[in-house]
Amino acid sequence: MARCSYCKKQSSGQKTAIRVVDKGSRHTRELPYCSEGCKQSIHKFIDSHNLWVPRFRTILMIWTLAFFGAILMQVVSANPIFKGTITPVVLAFIGIILIIYPAGTMDLKYYERIGIKWFSLYIRLTGLIIIFTAGSIMRQPM
Ligand SMILES: [Zn+2]
Repeated sequence: MARCSYCKKQSSGQKTAIRVVDKGSRHTRELPYCSEGCKQSIHKFIDSHNLWVPRFRTILMIWTLAFFGAILMQVVSANPIFKGTITPVVLAFIGIILIIYPAGTMDLKYYERIGIKWFSLYIRLTGLIIIFTAGSIMRQPM
């Protein structure tokens, strides 16, 4: 018996066709859903997913450069502003992105496995934890 791709409840086998961007090209997939609400949520998620997956790769690249740049500058200059301010700000930025756009961070298969609803929640919680971590780095005495 198929389970709803959104909430993982039992579905009566209805499926909705979606077009998903994967590795640069669009594929048609059929996802099972349990209710009209979940069907709409799936389509909303896929729209956001298709929009954000390519952007997220760029954001992640810039973020990685900024993060390691800040660590490197800290080592080179020993200026506490990098450890105390810039590194946590860069860290918090990725946390905020995860909370606002949880649809764009991973391949669809991960969302499907756990349920789009639950996996998005999990990504948002990860974003929150990252922000709290950044906050605690910032509060450390220099
Ligand atoms: Zn559902």
